[in-house]
Amino acid sequence: MTAPEELLHQVWGFAGFRPGQEEIVQAVIAGENTLAIMPTGGGKSLCFQLPALCRDGVTVVISPLIALMRDQVRSLRAAGVEAGALTSGNTESETEDVFAALDAGRLKLLYLAPERLALPGTLPMLRRVGVSLIAVDEAHCVSQWGHDFRPDYLRIGELRRTMGVPLAAFTATADAETRAEIVTRLFDGVEPRTFLRGFDRPNIRLCFAVKDSPREQILSYVKLRKGQSGIVYCGSRSKCEVLAQALREADHPAIYYHAGMDPEERRQAELRFQQEDGLIVVATVAFGMGIDKPDIRWVAHADLPKSIEGYYQEIGRAGRDGGPADTLTLYGPEDIRLRRSQIDEGAAPLERKEADHGRLNALLGLAEATACRRQVLLGYFGEDSGPCGNCDLCERPAKLFDATEAVRKALSVVLRTGQRFGAGHLIDVLTGTPTSKVKERGHDQLPTYAAGKDLSKPAWGAVFRQMMGRDLIRPDPEQNGGLYMTEAARPVLRGEVQVTLRADTVEKASSYVAKVN
Ligand code: ADP
Ligand code: ZN
Repeated sequence: MTAPEELLHQVWGFAGFRPGQEEIVQAVIAGENTLAIMPTGGGKSLCFQLPALCRDGVTVVISPLIALMRDQVRSLRAAGVEAGALTSGNTESETEDVFAALDAGRLKLLYLAPERLALPGTLPMLRRVGVSLIAVDEAHCVSQWGHDFRPDYLRIGELRRTMGVPLAAFTATADAETRAEIVTRLFDGVEPRTFLRGFDRPNIRLCFAVKDSPREQILSYVKLRKGQSGIVYCGSRSKCEVLAQALREADHPAIYYHAGMDPEERRQAELRFQQEDGLIVVATVAFGMGIDKPDIRWVAHADLPKSIEGYYQEIGRAGRDGGPADTLTLYGPEDIRLRRSQIDEGAAPLERKEADHGRLNALLGLAEATACRRQVLLGYFGEDSGPCGNCDLCERPAKLFDATEAVRKALSVVLRTGQRFGAGHLIDVLTGTPTSKVKERGHDQLPTYAAGKDLSKPAWGAVFRQMMGRDLIRPDPEQNGGLYMTEAARPVLRGEVQVTLRADTVEKASSYVAKVN
């Protein structure tokens, strides 16, 4: 048997392993059940392709995207590896070739679309050809709660049991819930060797800014990056179209992309983005899976992503070539409100909704971080690190203030007005602004009326946003989004914990330091 290291040089022409790859490769070769969590672009495919060459027999690879399977098969073959795919995209002669190679015992890697597992002939066929390893790419597709759920992935557990061979699962989605579901469904609940590696992408600069005039903010951001390829993520289809138009009017080459376009239009857009230099795509999250453009120099979020995982995946599309890449994420109270209501109004069961709120909280914690963002981000994925020197908060440390009193006043006004009002009205009460709504409701009679005169309205706006970001208050879907106090706020109200907030995000968001690559 050739040593893994040698195969790495000979077959792939790589100088060495990437962080984490070697340990995973060793474990998979040794026949251990493994779960590897690595970020997109981290080099997961090598971790099953290389062991496949070291082991006898065939490695079956289950993967959700036909295009990706075909790509991998193509490059393996170009490197002289016997690989083939059985998917609905095959021509008849391709399928025949695969079966011929299987029957001759030559094939080392057999890529299978999950749907194949449902066909009656598949299991007997796999039993006949001598499978020695099952590799599952994008293993989070087994999670019913995730947005990538593929029902046929649920058949993989049975496949593993019937074959009685080791299974190696790979995903970029690291949250504990999805991980637990993978362990249950793919490994019958028996913990596999788990690896979590390489989440840091030090070349990507992290930056968040409070959204005040998103269009202008994005336009000025793009202006500083003329000629560079980048992605702007938006929360809705119509925003993508409008913003792409605005960029074109400002003389930037920009196209839009969303799931409302027909498949051919989408394919064209993807192709243009891959091939043209300096093109900007304004897209919903539908854009990105399967895009392998190494020189995307920046990713901007015009709207807050849905979760910290989503954020990580989306910014991770920048700087795959290792060169400097920049990101900007805009967020504001409206984003928080929208994301909360999307969760609340969804069809998911209650415990699922709470988990989703938790994931959103993790992202908001990052948005409202008071020190190095990368530490917060990597900490979420379970990696320890020091201050990175490549995020807005490392470059310009946040000004903090003890906001305990302010937060308690805000909570008090939330409670005294019956947990039914939005921040605007609550701030009117706090600052002693006698609007007609304040007077009609008798809120000018409350002891908290004008109790917060010491802060300006914008300052209170920032306090409320940060309180929403810390999940101390939430919009109530049953009360038109009026704010209510969460359990997390009780210790604050009782004076048991201090709250430190950022003072500087009160300043206009457009003053963020834009650093040009
Ligand atoms: P993932 O599936 O984790 O998103 P891939 O397996 O597609 O990532 O790998 C991403 C890129 O990194 C590919 O272009 C691959 O050829 C390259 N790559 C993987 N491992 C190495 C390595 N050890 N050295 C150099 N390049 C590598
Ligand atoms: Zn940092």
